[in-house]
Amino acid sequence: MNTASNVVWNEHIFMGGWRTGHGAQVPVIEPATGDLLSTLQTASVEDVDHAANIAQKTQQEWATTPFDRKAEIIRNAAALLKSRAEEINGWNTRECGSIPPKAQWELQATYEQALMAAALPMQPIGQIFPSSMPGRRNYWKRIPIGTVGVIAPWNFPVLLAMRSVFPALAMGNCVILKPDVKSAICGGALMAEILREAGLPEGVFHVLPGGPEIGEALVKHPLIKMISFTGSTAVGLKIGETCGRMLKKAALELGGNNAMVILDDADLESAASCAAWGSFLHQGQICMQSGRHIVHESIAEKYAHLLSQRAKNLFCGNPWKEQVHLGPLISETQAQRVERIVNRSIDMGATLLAGGKRKGNFYEATVLGNVTPDMPVYSEEIFGPVAPITTFSTDDEAVTLINGSDYGLSTAIHSRSTERALRIANRIQVGMVHINDQTVNNEFQVPFGGLGSSGSSGRFGGPANIEEFTTSQWISVIEQGIQYPF
Ligand code: NAD
Repeated sequence: MNTASNVVWNEHIFMGGWRTGHGAQVPVIEPATGDLLSTLQTASVEDVDHAANIAQKTQQEWATTPFDRKAEIIRNAAALLKSRAEEINGWNTRECGSIPPKAQWELQATYEQALMAAALPMQPIGQIFPSSMPGRRNYWKRIPIGTVGVIAPWNFPVLLAMRSVFPALAMGNCVILKPDVKSAICGGALMAEILREAGLPEGVFHVLPGGPEIGEALVKHPLIKMISFTGSTAVGLKIGETCGRMLKKAALELGGNNAMVILDDADLESAASCAAWGSFLHQGQICMQSGRHIVHESIAEKYAHLLSQRAKNLFCGNPWKEQVHLGPLISETQAQRVERIVNRSIDMGATLLAGGKRKGNFYEATVLGNVTPDMPVYSEEIFGPVAPITTFSTDDEAVTLINGSDYGLSTAIHSRSTERALRIANRIQVGMVHINDQTVNNEFQVPFGGLGSSGSSGRFGGPANIEEFTTSQWISVIEQGIQYPF
């Protein structure tokens, strides 16, 4: 796919300005067709070192840039996200297989993140505390961490990169972003261009596309003082271990296996509509996907019927060419993995109620009944468009099923009794609970994050951004000399 600027990322990486990259040039393949869209220059481990050194030299100056200038640059970037929307959304559709409404929503959410971040430099950054020593003043203030490494996944490449990049910059940090190579144009190169055009000084922001070895180089680099990682639990655990050994701050937003819980007094039409959205949006490739449908036994048949009817009305296809509900999965390997999990679960006794067929990278919206917790479709994060239905008979049993997963990202509970739903919400170990909705929810102004295997309890959004992307310093001041006993 050609745009005015793609000659840049064919040969260059962004190290505060476009520079020659020293990693391999890799093809950018459209998952819907297998066509070559472009080539992408990746970074080498030496490039990571170089970028970290540039960022280290630039960070103090950026941190002391007047707050209103920082805010203005981020507001400029927000405006550019809007004016370049067609280009960004086009790449998101072709590079990542997003249907256009998903790409548009993602960009709007990124825009809102930018506006929220642009307001951060104007917030109070400290407090004054009393002192037991006469004449002493205690200032406690938020200070930048230094250079923040952001490692992002391919499923919401723009939003999940920039929800860290914008607030980290706003709080005076330099940022090195490593997008996934499968989404490095919309989730990396275009963001570099936008921040450059917005007026960000050279050296403050870097984009180094690459695979796990580039991510590891970021994590291990001593000049990178924090890692903000969004991705799988397996990789998050490794990153957490390395950061722990280096006493480096790690914000880890990881996988999920999220429960949609339908109580016997639920509005079933609404619950089925929520369930179809939560399970099939973006082909189910969302950390908050509704991956376990835990349904009261008295209404399970009706719920399964309503959800299956919806699934059967959803079409898969190339989102760039046709109006479809589901685009391709990110790769054939991923589609084959979904197929394997579904087939193994059917072999173990699950009933196929809708979908279940794969064609290349495309997988149909699928509903399975009679699912038990020992089946892989229930116990694993599927990352595909599959809704497995399991039944329960008492609210206690529902709580046990929800808490039976190591993941703790998002749960939805459907009931006409808010009190009953809240009683369940208060007994479960998840970071986000939505009553009478589905599990895929993200509002930029509300702190977002998971518990257990879903994250390290860091939070994004709203007031959490200041704490996440700063550390603190106590400064005490005594105006006149004092005498200690010796
Ligand atoms: P992934 O963990 O394989 O990759 C994520 C990023 O980490 C990529 O940029 C990748 O190149 C990099 N990476 C891989 N190995 C690395 C290593 N050893 N060291 C450093 N970096 C490394 O995840 P994925 O398959 O791209 O994304 C899907 C996963 O992300 C799912 O588990 C999903 O639930 C999770 N996710 C979580 C959230 C959230 O907010 N909690 C949001 C989206 C996705």
